[in-house]
Amino acid sequence: MKTRDPAALTGATEADAWRTRDLAVVWHPCTQMKEHPDTMPLVPIRRGRGAWLEGVDGTRYLDAVSSWWTNLFGHAEPRIAEAIGAQARELEHVIYAGFSHEPGLLLAEALVAKAPPGLTRVFYGDNGSAAVEIALKMSFHSHANHGDARRTRFIALGNGYHGETLGALSMGDIPLYRRIYAPLLLEPLFAPSPDAYEAEPGESPEACALRRADQLEALFAANEGQVCALIVEPLVQCAGGMRMYHPAYLRRAREICDAHGAHLIADEIAVGFGRTGTLFACEQAGISPDFLCLSKGLTGGFLPLSAVLTTAAVYDAFLDDSRERAFLHSHSYTGNPLGCAAALASLAIFDSDDVLARNRGRAARMAALAAPLASHPNVAQVRQTGMVLAFELTADGVGRTPYPSADRRGLRAYRHALSRGVLLRPLGDVLYWMPPYCVGEDELGHLADVTATAIEEATRP
Ligand code: PMP
Repeated sequence: MKTRDPAALTGATEADAWRTRDLAVVWHPCTQMKEHPDTMPLVPIRRGRGAWLEGVDGTRYLDAVSSWWTNLFGHAEPRIAEAIGAQARELEHVIYAGFSHEPGLLLAEALVAKAPPGLTRVFYGDNGSAAVEIALKMSFHSHANHGDARRTRFIALGNGYHGETLGALSMGDIPLYRRIYAPLLLEPLFAPSPDAYEAEPGESPEACALRRADQLEALFAANEGQVCALIVEPLVQCAGGMRMYHPAYLRRAREICDAHGAHLIADEIAVGFGRTGTLFACEQAGISPDFLCLSKGLTGGFLPLSAVLTTAAVYDAFLDDSRERAFLHSHSYTGNPLGCAAALASLAIFDSDDVLARNRGRAARMAALAAPLASHPNVAQVRQTGMVLAFELTADGVGRTPYPSADRRGLRAYRHALSRGVLLRPLGDVLYWMPPYCVGEDELGHLADVTATAIEEATRP
């Protein structure tokens, strides 16, 4: 149809024509659409290569946020693209109830082999929020199958985020996303975040984590026998502003859950697959959760897929002659073979390219490049866990007085960086780097330069 060809629209550049047509029919995620086209430019992208995105008008953008934390090894990574193509020519999809396929089997085996010990079962979903829903339902249902129907509550952490579907959103504590839907949501018990930024003056991150763990324990004690599970984002609360905490919290949380007969759900949807320096963040605490939720980087950033790993104890609670005791949760695209093939190719790259070891060098370089910015008068903190590095901007720097949110300092940084060819997408007033692992020395240098000027721009009176 002729009107589908952007070039057929006269009087505007191709990019402008694209924007106009897009904004006429598409409703974009996480966006106040009224801000298009003026406050927020819409950026039509034609292709991606390595750490770069290329716009329809030829402008290149360094993807410093790995496209919502999904991309691991660069855009259009040839080995993953090839694996998807080969799989698509064999079997694109098949119902996963009663049927099986090679990539689903091989991926489950590979995930079980790489995950913390004791996680021996894999249930697939098709996005991160679905993985969280699955873990919540499985936890509740396994307690119920054990005859423990009083366990109907969950404990979640202050400042946490677990997705946008109603169950996952319920577990989140970010008012911007949660407040309006509150009447529809489950009501978890919220334990205070172990976030080290919130430490008392002179308190170490570890002491802060342990103090918060004591409060967690008190919450369990006050609700004895009612809690199904504690859900956490291990080490980094990403959507909550890349707030980071000491692994001691996870060790204590594991002990507390055990002592109170509750499950521990580790939502590693954002931090899994090497972001924190280890393949899974839980490894840094030496713990195994009862549920490990994975998505985003699972497919290297190519396709929507998620996986929930759990234990034999949870699995066994569902084995029975009754169908009602089975876990009947299902999504049409469960275990999609293309997603599984992408995930297998992505896991193979971790081994063939010695990714985690190389990332240690990259993370050290990121730290060195960020260090000079720590003394900026409006930078309260530069923090880092592995390949995640964040700059907290405040009105008075280390005084930690937040800017009024109406100032939208982060938006200024976003727009400035975009004009300099870098995709930084701040979380409020927190600028962060979470680049694809293929990011090179020069690209990191460019990122640091643009971040420095973006901070200037954002903190200008
Ligand atoms: N959990 C965490 C920790 C996340 O960061 C996200 C997404 N940002 C989700 C869950 C939800 O994943 P999805 O967007 O794929 O539903």
